[in-house]
Amino acid sequence: MGLFGTSGIRGLFNRDLVDLAFKVGLAVGKNYGNVVVGSDTRTSSDTLKHALISGLLAAGADCGDVGIVPTPTLALAARKYGAGVMITASHNPPEYNGIKLLNPDGSSFVSSQQKQMEDLISGDSIGVAPWDEIKQSGIYNGAIEQHIERILQDFPAGLKLKVVLDCGCGAASEITPSLLERMGCEVVTLNCYHSGFFPRGIEPTESNLGDLMKVTGESGADLGIAHDGDADRMMAVDERGRFIPGDKLLAIFARELGVKEVVTIIDASMAIDEMGFNIRRTRVGDTCVSEELKNGGDFGGEPSGSWIFPNVSFCPDGIYAVACIAAIAGQQKLSGLVDKIPAYPLLRGSTGSDGVAMPGLESKLMAMKPMSVSNIDGIKLSFKDGWLLVRASGTEPKIRLTAEAKNEARARQLYDGGLRAIKDSIQNKEREA
Ligand code: MG
Repeated sequence: MGLFGTSGIRGLFNRDLVDLAFKVGLAVGKNYGNVVVGSDTRTSSDTLKHALISGLLAAGADCGDVGIVPTPTLALAARKYGAGVMITASHNPPEYNGIKLLNPDGSSFVSSQQKQMEDLISGDSIGVAPWDEIKQSGIYNGAIEQHIERILQDFPAGLKLKVVLDCGCGAASEITPSLLERMGCEVVTLNCYHSGFFPRGIEPTESNLGDLMKVTGESGADLGIAHDGDADRMMAVDERGRFIPGDKLLAIFARELGVKEVVTIIDASMAIDEMGFNIRRTRVGDTCVSEELKNGGDFGGEPSGSWIFPNVSFCPDGIYAVACIAAIAGQQKLSGLVDKIPAYPLLRGSTGSDGVAMPGLESKLMAMKPMSVSNIDGIKLSFKDGWLLVRASGTEPKIRLTAEAKNEARARQLYDGGLRAIKDSIQNKEREA
């Protein structure tokens, strides 16, 4: 049935999504018995949350409602429950919403758990509990305070920094200002109130954070911080008002936290490889990073702004990341750290995948004589001075190419080499036919 994408269930808010929330509640309630629920600030979140809670209660489950909280706050609260459910569409536009299912350790439901939920839902055979076994939902107070207290165990107070914070009117609008103030920071807030009408693009990309960059640069602040809608993501701006690219933020976190083993995705920059960490790479997606961290590693992340600290939780934790970057900025100017990390030219693009067979393509690509090849996600060729990743798109009939190298000309050469190999493998196939 394929209800679940890489980040749970997502879609435009409509009648089907409300019906589905009830059914997901029934299925989760049936299997997990004791469930905590939270939501982001979207206009449709309360509706979906109550539909889902109705399902949980109808299945005879116990249910705690934490209210509007970030996904990582809900993930931490889920420790005391059989499962956690977050109503959010993360960084998607405000007309979208979704349902994310979490385990008590903060990790997302794995594919076998998702399959089990899908089978229950599509079978449409889940009965409701007898009337005298139905429970009442309870309000779970204090999830935000618990999250703040957990973070403050690891970071010092008395920072005396000036921080500009843009929560985008999402779920961090309460917790992040409070955390920063308790760490001793003066906080200048932008969009830090709950509203489902996001005043900026809710994904924390450079193009959506113009106001944050301007205010941070012009106000003499030490750093700027932004979240996405459910605050599992965090991105930062240095004291000069420059957006810090995610690859550099990954490297800064890893180095300043003193970690030895880092988990990141296949197409994160090679700059991280040059910094002496033991690196393990996964398929693209924060759930893949989270899964891999269960096999070891001190820190994991995705350059889109998902940072995972496994000593706290396997859920990407944008709030913990705020404390981290603030503590780092308390020691030294962020711009100095940013400028020390090399930024290599990176080219991204795509071409039609019609007639391309991946095995044939791989043998064509081998003519580029790479030092090594990885098949973690598509085909990644590594060279002394760069790399090329060729992978089939999951959503369109396209092959995506990414090339990074020490200089622009070499990145272009790798990219064009990949394009040529794709073209050759199509011609070869036609000749064989
Ligand atoms: Mg998110």
